[in-house]
Amino acid sequence: MEEVDQSKVYFRCTVCDFVFQDDPNFFPIICPQCGSEDTERI
Ligand SMILES: [Zn+2]
Repeated sequence: MEEVDQSKVYFRCTVCDFVFQDDPNFFPIICPQCGSEDTERI
């Protein structure tokens, strides 16, 4: 059973520098603060 929530990883928006968690299986990763798709996994 894989019930551990390891699906969420940290991303940082390269536009506004906002750091947030999201599921990398879903694309695009969009910054919740400014709405940019220009994010990088950290
Ligand atoms: Zn942003």
